[in-house]
Amino acid sequence: MSAITYKELDYHVGHKVELVKYGKEKEICLECEDCNEVLKSYTPEQDKETRVYLTNCSQDSKGFNFRDCEYKAEYDKIKDEAEKQGTVYSLEGFQEACNNEEIDLTNSFILID
Ligand SMILES: [Zn+2]
Repeated sequence: MSAITYKELDYHVGHKVELVKYGKEKEICLECEDCNEVLKSYTPEQDKETRVYLTNCSQDSKGFNFRDCEYKAEYDKIKDEAEKQGTVYSLEGFQEACNNEEIDLTNSFILID
């Protein structure tokens, strides 16, 4: 996925810019025809909902050490553990659960993705 800043985009003001859809991934690209450059690309996957993965670190989980996972950037392992513990929330669900004091955040690791 490409990233573009305001300054980079400003360079293309007045150029012929168009949206093109490519391939099986249905990637949509914002392209500058004058510069023959992809300014930004989007995939349907980017629209996925944000999830809150809550892991209770005081639970005895064999083979799981969240500090190791965090250090090695093994976020999938953290997500798997949260799924095992049954504590994966939507953003709204997390807010509600917190406000209703349904969840105890003491000794918890939170991953938002
Ligand atoms: Zn351009």
